[in-house]
Amino acid sequence: MNSGDAMRFLKNRDSIHFIWFSLVVFILLIGTMAMYRNIALNNQMNYLKQSNEAFHDQINVTIDRYEVFSEYLFNTLIDENVLEMMYDASGEDSELRDVSREQLYHYLLDDYQLITAYDFRQLHFHLPNGDSFLRFHTPQRYGDNLFEYRTSIKRVNTDLEVVKGFEEGRIYNGYRFVYPLFYNDQHVGSVEVSISIATILDMLYVNEADRGHFFLMRAEVVHALVFEEYLGNYSISELSDFYYFDRVVYAQFNDQRVIFAGNEIDDFFDSIHDEVAPKIIAMQPFYFTTEYDGSYYTLQFMSLINIDGNHVGYIFTVYEDLDFRSLILQDYVVYPVIVLFYGILYFSLFVYVKDKKRIIKLSQTDSLTGLYNRLYFNTVATKELERSKRYDNQLSLIFMDIDHFKQINDTYGHLMGDEILREIANTLTHSVRQYDVVSRWGGEEFALLLPQTSRENACKVARKIKTIIAQTTFPVEDNITLSFGVASFSDVCQSMDDMFLEADKNLYRAKELGRDTIVSE
Ligand code: GH3
Ligand code: MG
Ligand code: MG
Repeated sequence: MNSGDAMRFLKNRDSIHFIWFSLVVFILLIGTMAMYRNIALNNQMNYLKQSNEAFHDQINVTIDRYEVFSEYLFNTLIDENVLEMMYDASGEDSELRDVSREQLYHYLLDDYQLITAYDFRQLHFHLPNGDSFLRFHTPQRYGDNLFEYRTSIKRVNTDLEVVKGFEEGRIYNGYRFVYPLFYNDQHVGSVEVSISIATILDMLYVNEADRGHFFLMRAEVVHALVFEEYLGNYSISELSDFYYFDRVVYAQFNDQRVIFAGNEIDDFFDSIHDEVAPKIIAMQPFYFTTEYDGSYYTLQFMSLINIDGNHVGYIFTVYEDLDFRSLILQDYVVYPVIVLFYGILYFSLFVYVKDKKRIIKLSQTDSLTGLYNRLYFNTVATKELERSKRYDNQLSLIFMDIDHFKQINDTYGHLMGDEILREIANTLTHSVRQYDVVSRWGGEEFALLLPQTSRENACKVARKIKTIIAQTTFPVEDNITLSFGVASFSDVCQSMDDMFLEADKNLYRAKELGRDTIVSE
């Protein structure tokens, strides 16, 4: 191996290392990005999940508050007089019933007006058989039997226990609190107070003022229940043909107009139609974030389950989600930082490795000729000798010294001397096999290590070099010749030092013999 081949070999190995190194850094980069993406997506999911839970909590807390309030109303409004009137009404006598209705209406009218100021929408009395007895919101409508339409009323008057929950009605839908009534332990009917969904959403507008809140009812439910003349309370939604908007709630949104001015809400709903339509048909709660007009909007759909346990609609909220936006913007910062980090790492390691290689190369080679220096040659030679011993191979060494080189320097100058040294080094490099090691041993001396080569073959190599040098035209008039001292591994030459001594001795003899000659023993 001469140093040029060695460098080429190193370079090949280097480029393979380089490709591996780049690949590892690239995989790490992709891995880190994937890991970050995973974390970021998880964060986004958790964030949306938590916001959604907070939205549900808001609604539930509002309902709980009204429930406590409804109990208070029941305990204060429903006194002995009311119960006695209901007792009279629940009997057979229809005239007495009409009188009781009249009495009850006047007895509680002030209270009814008061509780409507607190957002209760209905105060509705029913007879034990489910007949509507007195609706304070439409006192002229009574006598219709509600068992078929109103599970809550049927259940209260059958089980005689309080029922609470959302229920659609013939006129209004709402969150209802229905209590059984007893006069002297006799069941005399039931009373209901209710709040509208609009009331619940009103509270949301207080707590979540920058959001739009809506209520959707399943079209099927509306058509099955609502009195013809009250269908106008609902309007078709842009989100799905299977759901209607509650007009009151929609009007409430229009009053507030916290987001989406003018008709923009329709455009927005159109834009999410394809995403929402299949989900609301599945009747499950869901939430998602969508990009619209350069902003992120989060929508949370809470399924409204009625007293029977059926999904009848959705309360949903829409808001511009600035927190989500920050989470997304964070990605725009983190990805470049990751790329930059790996870029710097890659570049630094690259420079470091290159530098290290350069230093190693400097320490092993001679700067004038590019051949291995004496130090490195020694190391390689010692290893080669060990190997030769281990495998019982032959090993030879040739020392070469330029004849009368001082004279060349003196005649043509040092620079020309240097040039000739370089040319000889180059010639040597190209005259030997790949595993042979050429080095600059000293000033104008060269050493050549020939693994698996006998003394005889080493002499052949020396002759070959001698011939090539003789045929080479150097930029000086004088003939450039070399003297050769050959040494081989043998019983008397057991160490590298022995080999060096022997080669040196033979070289000296070659000089004595008149130079331009080869001495091998
Ligand atoms: P001999 O045939 O006995 O070897 O004669 P010589 O003149 O070659 O031997 P000597 O040892 O007297 O001189 C060697 C010369 O090689 C002396 C020195 O100026 C020259 N030399 C050593 N290293 C360099 C070098 O790097 N560049 C140049 N230009 N000359 C060098
Ligand atoms: Mg010389
Ligand atoms: Mg010399």
